[in-house]
Order: sequence, then C-alpha cells, then structure tokens
Amino acid sequence: MTKFEALGLNKPLLDAVADMGFESPSEVQEKAIPILLESETDLVALAQTGTGKTAAFGFPLIQKLDSNSRTTQGLILSPTRELCLQITNEMQAYSKYVKGLSTVAIYGGASITEQARQIKRGAQIVVATPGRMKDMIGRGLVDISKIDYCILDEADEMLNMGFYEDIKDILSNTPADKSTWLFSATMPKEVSIIAKKFMHSPVEITVGTKNAGTSTVQHEYYVVGGRDRYAALKRLSDANPDIFSVVFCRTKRDTQRVAEKLIEDGYNAGALHGDLSQNQRDLVMNAFRKKQIQMLVATDVAARGIDVDDITHVINYQLPDEIETYTHRSGRTGRAGKNGISMVIVTRSEMRKIHAIEKKIKQEFVNKIIPTGIEICEIQLYHLANKIKDTKINKDVENYLPAINDVLDGIDRDELIKKIVSVEFTRFSNYYNKTKDLNATVSEKSAARKSTSGGSVRYFINVGEKDGYDWMSLKDFLRDTLNLGKEDVYKVDTKDTFSFFNTEAEHKDQILSFFTDFKLNGRFINVEVSNSPEGSGGGRGRKDKGKKRGRGGKNDKNSYKGKASRSGKRRSKKSRSDFF
Ligand code: ADP
Ligand code: MG
Repeated sequence: MTKFEALGLNKPLLDAVADMGFESPSEVQEKAIPILLESETDLVALAQTGTGKTAAFGFPLIQKLDSNSRTTQGLILSPTRELCLQITNEMQAYSKYVKGLSTVAIYGGASITEQARQIKRGAQIVVATPGRMKDMIGRGLVDISKIDYCILDEADEMLNMGFYEDIKDILSNTPADKSTWLFSATMPKEVSIIAKKFMHSPVEITVGTKNAGTSTVQHEYYVVGGRDRYAALKRLSDANPDIFSVVFCRTKRDTQRVAEKLIEDGYNAGALHGDLSQNQRDLVMNAFRKKQIQMLVATDVAARGIDVDDITHVINYQLPDEIETYTHRSGRTGRAGKNGISMVIVTRSEMRKIHAIEKKIKQEFVNKIIPTGIEICEIQLYHLANKIKDTKINKDVENYLPAINDVLDGIDRDELIKKIVSVEFTRFSNYYNKTKDLNATVSEKSAARKSTSGGSVRYFINVGEKDGYDWMSLKDFLRDTLNLGKEDVYKVDTKDTFSFFNTEAEHKDQILSFFTDFKLNGRFINVEVSNSPEGSGGGRGRKDKGKKRGRGGKNDKNSYKGKASRSGKRRSKKSRSDFF
C-alpha cells in the first residue's frame, strides 16, 4: 500500500497521483486529507506556499463530489487570475480518471459570456476570483446555492487584497450546511475573523511554525550606496549565471525602468506590472515559465499570482513598506522543499528595516558582500567552461564540420579553448575592469567602528512632555531601558511631543536596533538619528512632523512607512496606483 493509499484516496486519484509522479504526501496533505475524507467538517489549514495545499483540498474534494450530477458542488475562491488558472489545471490533472468531472475557472479580464457558457455546460467545481464571482452571481450566471464545499485558498492574500466584502457576499449565497475549508500561509487577525464568523468549530492544522517565513530560504542583505542599486543588481545576477529570479521594485515606474535597463544591458529580463495589458502580462509570464526570462522585474501586486517553482532567487531591489510583504516576496522561492535565496539590496540607512524583518520572520539575515569584478569574471569563466563541457553535441553540426575545420585550421587546442572562452568572457571582463567596489560598508561592525570615530550621535525620539517626561526623567528612562551607564546619555532636550538626546557613537547600533519595535504603554517608541546639529534642539519642521506622528493603527507593527517618511528627505506622497 502506498502512502497515498493509506490516506484513503480511491483508485482514480491514486492513478493520477502516479501519473504526476508524486511519491509521498506532503505534511499538509498527510494531515488534511484523512480528516476531510472521513468527516464533514470545517477546516483551517496553515502552511507555507509550496507545501502542496492544492492537493490537500483538491484530492478530498474530487473524491467526495458526485461526478454523475452536473450541479456545482464545490467552489474554490482564490486571490488572482494566475492562481485560479493554476488551481484549475491542477484539479483537471488530479481528476483526469474521474469520468464526467469538470472544473471551470472564473476570473476577471476575460470574457464573462464565455465563462458563463462553460458554467452552463455543467461544472461540478468552480474556481474563482472573488470579484468576478460576485459579478457573475449578481447577473445570475452561476448558481452556488447547492454547493457542499467552499474552499478559501490563500485566504491571507485574498484579505490583503481587500476581498473581505466580496467573500462575505459570496458566502451569503451558499447553503448554511456546506463545509468550509480555509487554506492560508499566515494567520493574521483578518483570517481568524473570517474563521470565527463563517465557520463552525473548524479543525485546525498547522504545518511548520505559524507566520514564519519559509525556512528553506536563506535571507541575505547587501549594503550599497543609494546610487549603486542598479549596478549591484547586475552584479548579483552576473555572479549567479543560472539565476531564475523575481526582482521586486516598489513602483510600476521603477519596475519598468529596471527591466528596460536590464534588457538594454543584455539580460533576459521582463517587466510585470499593472500598467501592462492582460495580453502583455500573459506573454511575459509565459516567457518566464519557459525560463526565456531569467529576471522577472515585478511589483508586489502584479507578482501576487506568480506560482512558479524553481525560482532560485528573490531580489528585493527595494524593500517593501510592509514587513508582511517581504514574507510574501521571499515565499516565491524555496518552494516544494527546494532551497532559495532572498536577497535584499539596502542602503546603510535602511538597516533598521532589516532588523525589523529579522524579528518578524524569526530568521537572521546574512550580511553578504557584492562580488568584485574579478570574482564575477572568475565565476563566469568556470560557468562557461562547465557549460561547454555539459553541452550535448547537436548532430546537425556534423554537416558543417569540414567547413568549420577549414576555418579553424592551424589553431591548436590550447589556443582554441582560449578563443572559445573569450567569446563570452570578454564582455564581462571589459565591463568589470573599469568598475569599483560597490559595498557601502563591509559589515555592521565596521560601520559601527567608523561612526565611533565620529564621536557623538544625536537622536530623535517620539516621546516628549505630553507623555509626562522632562529632561531628567527621560534621561533616567533611556539609561534604565537601554542598560547604559550614568554618563552615557546626555544633552537630553524634551519638546512637546518629541525629544532629542545624545550618546557616543559606539551605542548607536544597540539603540537603533533596540527601538525597532519597542512598545511603551501600548505605543511604539521610535528613535532615529537626528540630522539636526548637536544640542540645537532640532530644526524647524520637526515640530510639524512630530504632530503627525500618531501611531497605533492596526498595521503599525508591520510597517515602517512612518520611519521612512521621517528620514529627513521627505518622499513625495504616492497614490495607491503607483504601487500596482
Ligand atoms: P501551495 O498551494 O501550498 O503553495 P501547491 O499546491 O501549489 O502549493 O504545490 C506546489 C508544488 O508542489 C506543485 O508543483 C505541486 O504539483 C507539487 N506537489 C504537491 N504535492 C506534492 C507531492 N506530494 N509530491 C511532490 N510534489 C507535490
Ligand atoms: Mg496554493
């Protein structure tokens, strides 16, 4: 008996499993399938991306449906069109030996009449995005009033994308006695609210740790100067010749710009963002799937649906505003038990974000150095040699050999090798011969050492007299909280809603990292290095900003938007559509 048989799957499914080459069930499958097969229950399953959740609900769903009836019996809601199509394909593969079973995908951006026509022909399983589903219910094009099973897949992403109301509406069109199965990578508050409101004492299963990033992913950061981001990106790519990656940018404009530059510089790159037509996006995604594109430059929203295995690297060209977004980004790699690397290109002033992410994902980043030009040339050289060695000889070449031999006559083996290798190598060596070291600082320690020689550091802190502090009590508070000596905190200057203080530079890293998520009376306390001259009491404008510093929104913990906009240079306000 195979392990899949032991879970209780029937013959048609076992045959499909064999065809797909699955050898043993994944953990979430092992836990969910028997429960769902044996009982009519609601279920909440938490498991990272790439752990095989589709089959965990897909197998039991297919086995439990009545394929002789054409009634729609199962509804799967999923956040994006990409995922809808993917789930539909998987369901069709799983059910290939189940006669008469039909799965139909419903999503925006495609003909609603065509989708309605497919539904009308009879679909036991409907896979839908919430928006289009609601639309079709409204127009009476689909009937989900008799479903037995409703699956909320990638529930956290659906809620992230603002589908709560749509989901609520859709569920109100389903029978009360159906079973609801919720699958999610993380369990934010919004998801537990859904579970409480719309489910009846669900069985809970968890695979791995809740809310943690994928552990098969190594997180790395590279510190560079702000103007060297693009050059750093190129080097990271050149140092990984077989890279198959998603490069995340913050805005559509940056996404387009970086992709264009990469293409101009000879890389297999493509852009994916919301300003492209559906057709353009499909073309890019197809090329990416076929690995004709090695670097897919994408915005967070556009990349949500990407569910491509084998992504070797996720590159954070810029860090996202929300820490949660970082988790989604890095989850694109290290799928299906493979290893992946999530690289972050940061400037020195963004180091605090790295610490904040480390805390959230409970994993440490490795501080890596951008490879030098010489290292990259070496890597490329060995890569090329190996590529030549592993290349399968194309038989058709034989026909041309006499002519080729003629051309290359008189060149000995050594010289020939040098020439062949130089064909590609020269491009890199020419480029890298002229380039400088990009690393802004070699390590945090050396950064600290540098600033020690800088003497005193002035900080800004977002508590002040309104919070009941005067300079003495604030000094005591800082010394006690930070465990510093009597003379270590000085020039404490309290204002209405904020204050300033100084320490020697050697305490800087400790102080900044301590205050990345420190709460006092339920409020986040922020400390940052002040640009204002020592002891001057802060420049003008500080006061305005201080007033706006209201925190306490529910997402504050995961956000460093506030910090970013406080960093001296004020970023222009971006509309929501800039980020899609
Ligand atoms: P998730 O929904 O958890 O992100 P998927 O269901 O998309 O994960 O599965 C990720 C990949 O793993 C898919 O390519 C899928 O075909 C494959 N897969 C799923 N279950 C197994 C298994 N038991 N053995 C091998 N591969 C599997
Ligand atoms: Mg999935």
